[in-house]
Amino acid sequence: EQDVAEYKKSLAIRVSGFDVPRPIKTFNDCGFSTQLMHAISKQGYEKPTSIQCQALPIVLSGRDIIGIAKTGSGKTASFVLPMIVHIMDQPELQKEEGPIGVICAPTRELAHQIYLETKKFAKSHGIRVSAVYGGMSKLDQFKELKAGCEIVIATPGRLIDMLKMKALTMLRATYLVLDEADRMFDLGFEPQIRSIVGQIRPDRQTLLFSATMPRKVEKLAREILTDPVRVTVGEVG
Ligand code: ADP
Ligand code: MG
Repeated sequence: EQDVAEYKKSLAIRVSGFDVPRPIKTFNDCGFSTQLMHAISKQGYEKPTSIQCQALPIVLSGRDIIGIAKTGSGKTASFVLPMIVHIMDQPELQKEEGPIGVICAPTRELAHQIYLETKKFAKSHGIRVSAVYGGMSKLDQFKELKAGCEIVIATPGRLIDMLKMKALTMLRATYLVLDEADRMFDLGFEPQIRSIVGQIRPDRQTLLFSATMPRKVEKLAREILTDPVRVTVGEVG
C-alpha cells in the first residue's frame, strides 16, 4: 500500500472514489491482446503517460471515470484502448445495429484527431470506425453510418442530425466518451449532449474527460455517471 501511494505521488495524480484499481506501470500490465500491444508499439508508445497509468486499469475494470487533465497528457489512448477491449469482449459483431462505442468531441478538428488515433488501434481488430461532424456532406455521412460501424466519433450537433435522420441507432451503444466536456459546454452543446446520453442505455460505461470542471459540467457528471472514479493529473481541475 505504501508503494502504491508513493507511485501515485510520482505520477502527480490525485484519485478519489471507492475501490480504485491500482495504477499500472507498463502497457504489459493491461492484459492487452498481442495485436493491440503491437499497435501500441507501432505508435511509438513505450510507456503509459501519468493519466494512462491510472485511467487504463479503472476503465478496463468497467468503472465510470472523470479524467481531469490538460491537453497533451495522453487522454485519447486512455479511452480508445479500453474501448477496443470492450468491443472485442462483445459476444458477436452484428452488422447494422449501430455503434458500440460513441465518442463526442467539441470540434471537427478534435473529432478527426481522435478518429485517426482510433483507426490505428481498431484496424488490426476489424473494428469499423466512422467520424461525423459539421462541414462534411450529411448524405455521405448518412450512407457511411448506414453501412455500419462499431465506433462513432462525432460532434454533438451532427450526431443529433444523424440520429434524427435515422442513420444509426444507439441500441447497441454501451461505451460513451465525452471528451473535452468543458469545451463542449462552452460551445453550447449541453442540450445535444443530454439528448445523446438520454438515447443510450443507462447501464452503459461512461467516461468524461475535461481540462477544467466548471459547476455545470460537475452537475452533468453527477447526473450521468455511476460511482465514477475521479482522476486529476497535475495542477488542473
Ligand atoms: P490529450 O487528449 O490529453 O490532449 P493526446 O491523447 O492527444 O492528449 O496525446 C498527446 C500526444 O501524446 C499525442 O501526439 C499522442 O500520440 C502522444 N501520446 C499519447 N500517449 C503516449 C504514450 N504513452 N507515449 C508517447 N506518446 C504518447
Ligand atoms: Mg484530447
